[in-house]
Amino acid sequence: MAKRTINKVAVIGSGIMGSGIACHFANIGVEVLLLDIVPRELNEKEQAKGLTLEDKVVRNRIVNDALAKAIKSKPAPLYHKNFASRITTGNLEDDIAKVGQVDWIIEVVVERLDIKKQVFENLEKHRKPGTLITSNTSGIPIKFMSEGRSEDFQAHFCGTHFFNPARYLKLFEIIPGPKTNPEVLDFLNGYGEQFLGKTSVVAKDTPAFIGNRIGIFSIMSLFHMVKEMGLTIEEVDKLSGPVIGRPKSATFRTVDVVGLDTLVHVANGIAENCPDDERKSLFVLPDFINAMMENQWLGSKSGQGFYKKVKKEDGSSEILSLDLDSLEYRAKKRASFGTLELTKSIDKVIDRWPVLVGGKDKAGEFYRKTLAALFAYVSHRIPEITDQLYKIDDAMKAGFGWEHGPFQIWDAIGVDKGLEFIAAEGLEAAAWVQEMRDSGSESFYTVVDGATYCYDRDKKGQEKIPGQDAFIILDNIRKSKEVFKNSGVVVEDLGDGILNVEFQSKMNTIGGDVLAGLNKAVDLAEKDFDGLVVGNQAANFSVGANIGMIFMMAVEQEYDELNAAIKYFQDTVMRMRYSSIPTVVAPHGMTLGGGCELSLHADMVVAAAETYIGLVEFGVGVIPGGGGSKEMTLRAADTFHKNDVELNVLQEYFLTIGMAKVATSAYEAYDTFILQKGKDIVVVNKDRQLATAKAYARLMADRGYTKPIQRTDIKVLGKQALGMFLVGTDSMEAGRYISEHDKKIANKLAYVMAGGDLSEPQRVSEQYLLDLEREAFLSLCTERKTLERIEHMLKKGKPLRN
Ligand code: NAD
Repeated sequence: MAKRTINKVAVIGSGIMGSGIACHFANIGVEVLLLDIVPRELNEKEQAKGLTLEDKVVRNRIVNDALAKAIKSKPAPLYHKNFASRITTGNLEDDIAKVGQVDWIIEVVVERLDIKKQVFENLEKHRKPGTLITSNTSGIPIKFMSEGRSEDFQAHFCGTHFFNPARYLKLFEIIPGPKTNPEVLDFLNGYGEQFLGKTSVVAKDTPAFIGNRIGIFSIMSLFHMVKEMGLTIEEVDKLSGPVIGRPKSATFRTVDVVGLDTLVHVANGIAENCPDDERKSLFVLPDFINAMMENQWLGSKSGQGFYKKVKKEDGSSEILSLDLDSLEYRAKKRASFGTLELTKSIDKVIDRWPVLVGGKDKAGEFYRKTLAALFAYVSHRIPEITDQLYKIDDAMKAGFGWEHGPFQIWDAIGVDKGLEFIAAEGLEAAAWVQEMRDSGSESFYTVVDGATYCYDRDKKGQEKIPGQDAFIILDNIRKSKEVFKNSGVVVEDLGDGILNVEFQSKMNTIGGDVLAGLNKAVDLAEKDFDGLVVGNQAANFSVGANIGMIFMMAVEQEYDELNAAIKYFQDTVMRMRYSSIPTVVAPHGMTLGGGCELSLHADMVVAAAETYIGLVEFGVGVIPGGGGSKEMTLRAADTFHKNDVELNVLQEYFLTIGMAKVATSAYEAYDTFILQKGKDIVVVNKDRQLATAKAYARLMADRGYTKPIQRTDIKVLGKQALGMFLVGTDSMEAGRYISEHDKKIANKLAYVMAGGDLSEPQRVSEQYLLDLEREAFLSLCTERKTLERIEHMLKKGKPLRN
């Protein structure tokens, strides 16, 4: 196959999805041409300005307004606001010829076959032969869209279905048309994973493809079950949310966010176009949904749906819930179930399933019933929507944010048990499941030598899932490759001389056991290996130091112990920095406080694009005490140039900590000096992050890694910096931007970052700064207001401003 590269794409249609897709291509560095239609009428503003329909600003108004709106939306579609400059806008009349210069044209216009066909006809006139051309349709059969187009067009045409929001949802369905060249599919499959950071799933051209077919089934089957089981919407959301590894918005809140009309549109499409679906009656809307549609209670977009936010008399707001029987809104009711209490101590979601389905209360019944329906349904979708069962799991995880797919859950409770539940509901699983059991397969998946195998219905046996060699899956190797383990970490051998240390604590907080594990990992790596990665595949890299432990010591006034604990943290990050092997840290998701400080001390950071990293210690009333304050001082000093206004530079670094800035993507972390250009890198696909981190550790080792020499040449500015900071914090307090306690914390940080009250600028060592940092940290731990902040964070999970 000729090599294909994507340097430039054209996105046709700039609505919700088009703008989002354009932004995501910009995120990964691709040049984007975004086109939409020319308006037919002037708006009021344009009339007032005396513009005509011939003016460029008018002709590009639809696309420019849509893109501007998207860029402002939250969560942000761009990794960094500057990336918007990679997108050029235009309209389908004046600029359509430019599609002749792109490598890939993606159609994202309204969901109407006649319009899409017209758009393709126009595009074909300008498209260079060989250019990829795909549609983002969510439901129109691919085979209809390329009718009438040339052979070359049809060979390069297929569906590429992004999910909303395009940056955040990982599913990328690729749907072949009747004449799509297999090489095109292979290319897109690889490109989706490696460049766009997605989970690519090649689906068949069946209604709603894989993700929406199963996702909408699962919601519709719940809609039909909820009243019969006498459950409230709060109860269903409690049962179908984080406890089973699904998003916080669970079922009904998700529908409110997506919009009931969107859901109904897809459900109707399936009801109409899947006459042979054995559960087609479930896609017919129950009465309460019809009533809601009539009332236009569509969710967030219409101000009310299953939930409704109202203002109370005292000005505060309250969220009401819909009673599905009376269709009236009422105060929220608490939802609690004994069965859920039983799972509180079970950290891993997959281990909760056997307990949940064994529940004796309504919750247990709910799980048995919903799983029975889901299991039976997915079994019958093979081979209709895909030949491989793992694709259904992949689609549900990547497109709907489920931690585990239906077949993984089925494995967790046992294939036979799942079959029992199905029978108890009067349903039937597809015959191949029993065939699989009869052939001796105990489960849908197995792991052999760190690789995942999956039952293949056609081959009647377990087959290795392709494409996983680019990934390292810690769940698969944790046991077999374990080199060391304590209560805080597991150290695994990643092969090729590289070790990985993986946190095991709750929310990956960093306490004594984790620190001991990190030290041990460095020891082991120095002795018998060539490099060390600090990486994990939990939802978040680490929410920071174990502040519960700090709180206890502070309350008990065990200051010697506290001092020793902080010193241990500092010594550990310094050990990471000054070891004789390269260390690579791989942050992703929330990487806060101590997790961030650990990253700051690696030889290299390989960050996932979706990394929310920052020094948030002010929020709990302290300054970074694990080397973070020292490191920001050092980094500022390293950028001082002759004739620089050094104070201003230092102030920028000070504000990273002082404003507790958290980057909303890894790219933003370069602006806050947490990541360093030319040293640290970003990987778009989180699934590839560990393999990349390992490769870089290997490369650094091969290049000849020598233990760095400790720094003693850090320029600190002393009194002149301190003076500036103190004036600044005084005026911030006077202007009521910060509280008295904020000022106290800021002044402590100022003292550290000035290097103390030295009368002249001077060069100091890292240890000198670490000692200042630790002293400041400890003194803040004696403050009542700091303890209140820590306690609030522990109880409520958010910062207290006092
Ligand atoms: P949208 O309504 O937000 O945007 C549609 C765009 O099409 C608008 O910018 C509009 O100006 C443009 N348009 C209208 N008439 C046109 C014409 N005659 N020629 C060219 N362009 C025209 O819709 P959307 O939600 O962005 O959906 C776009 C496509 O993506 C649809 O096929 C939809 O099924 C699919 N999709 C949507 C979602 C979602 O959640 N919204 C998710 C996945 C796929």
